Amino acid sequence: MRRNRNVKIVATLGPASSDLDTIRALFDAGADVFRLNMSHGSHGEIRARHDLVRQIEAEAGRPIALLADLQGPKLRVGAFATGPVELEEGAAFRLDLDDAPGDAQRVQLPHPEIFAALEPGAELLINDGKIRLEVVACGADFADCVVAVGGVISDRKGVNVPDVVLPLAALSDKDRRDLEFVCDLGVDWLALSFVQRAEDVTEARALARGRAAIMAKIEKPAAVKAFDEILAAADGIMVARGDLGVELPVHAVPPIQKRLVRRTRAAAKPVIVATQMLESMIESPMPTRAEVSDVATAIYEGADAVMLSAESAAGAYPVEAVATMNNVAISVEGDPTWREVIVASRKIDHVGVADGIVAAAREIAETTDIKAICCFTESGSTPSKVARERPQVPIIALSPSPATLRRLCLTWGIHCVATGPIDRFKSAVVSAARAARDLGLATEQEQIVVTAGVPFNVPGTTNILRVAPCDERLIYRAEAE
Ligand code: PGA
Ligand code: MN
Repeated sequence: MRRNRNVKIVATLGPASSDLDTIRALFDAGADVFRLNMSHGSHGEIRARHDLVRQIEAEAGRPIALLADLQGPKLRVGAFATGPVELEEGAAFRLDLDDAPGDAQRVQLPHPEIFAALEPGAELLINDGKIRLEVVACGADFADCVVAVGGVISDRKGVNVPDVVLPLAALSDKDRRDLEFVCDLGVDWLALSFVQRAEDVTEARALARGRAAIMAKIEKPAAVKAFDEILAAADGIMVARGDLGVELPVHAVPPIQKRLVRRTRAAAKPVIVATQMLESMIESPMPTRAEVSDVATAIYEGADAVMLSAESAAGAYPVEAVATMNNVAISVEGDPTWREVIVASRKIDHVGVADGIVAAAREIAETTDIKAICCFTESGSTPSKVARERPQVPIIALSPSPATLRRLCLTWGIHCVATGPIDRFKSAVVSAARAARDLGLATEQEQIVVTAGVPFNVPGTTNILRVAPCDERLIYRAEAE
């Protein structure tokens, strides 16, 4: 039942995937991580999905990660008096704080902090960027705009303000309630939408109090600019191409995706490429060739994970979409060119003992006939560093911490295995060999590499690298102590 690919698959759960059978089918088809989108669904629905995933996890006997995606400070206009309104190019249109229903001349934008930050010349994008307004004059409670690109506007459409770093709290009141709720439930990752600065990540981390790892979604120009600081503050990155392609020209997104994937990998943190990967599969059982190529590109680039949004949450073919990603992954990872590209893009700053050990583990595994690299880990940092190497042999992370193992489900190439507490190196090697055999990665006649830290159970101490047999009698002979 183990995966026979390295890249991971994230599937968003929603109305099309909320029953036990469908979620189990998604898992069987290849989903490694399930995303709970807090922009949709009541707490009751989110709890039900969470519980079903944990039930499937228990049945499978293998960790599964849950990623809760917080809505973030998403701006929306108010309501209109008589339904949708057509804004003509060149017309004047006003945004203000008045909650009276809107018309073809004005509508409410219930965010005073935005008016304070706007300046003439700034651009406002409405309805996924379909409508563009240019600010010509503004004050504390209004912005007079001219319609640069017209279109139909209707109740509560989203507003993007790409040019301005908005003085918005990273987490709205709803986000804070949602964060507390999902941390209590026991999700493994929190994704933060519309991150603008590293402090946004720090703030969420303080609220999460270690209950979940923090992923920063890069979907604003400000976040692209402050990426290095955001990456340093976060545990993982999502290239959120949907909003990124609204806030920036769509053609700016691919180079940003490439850079973010490389930089995040170099930091030994997981990076997800997200949004519209198999968009046509919302309605069709067959993806377009271009979509298949897009998934393949993310895998060639070395992303840790590829993600499905509406395809699995609200589409007609959620299981087929996961299966498609799985097939693309196996096809790409079987291509010798993929290996060349992955190796050529390896970039590691050797900064400490663990970095040296994992580099050596990969070298040994690739130059001799080693079947797996097995890492004992408390925090997950050593297997993450091994994953950064993108080795040719599988990686097995062994940990007594269920939270650590679940978080690692998102990371490239890692098989997660629970162990009891380890107090001796001999029992560590025995557990590693057993895990490699149970996963079908090695036989008794074969060898593995084991990394561990002594003393045991202290995070960040990796200091041992051992080439070990998988035959327990040989292990006992070799590790006499
Ligand atoms: P969303 O984020 O699906 O929550 O909007 C992803 C994106 O913008 O790409
Ligand atoms: Mn988004």
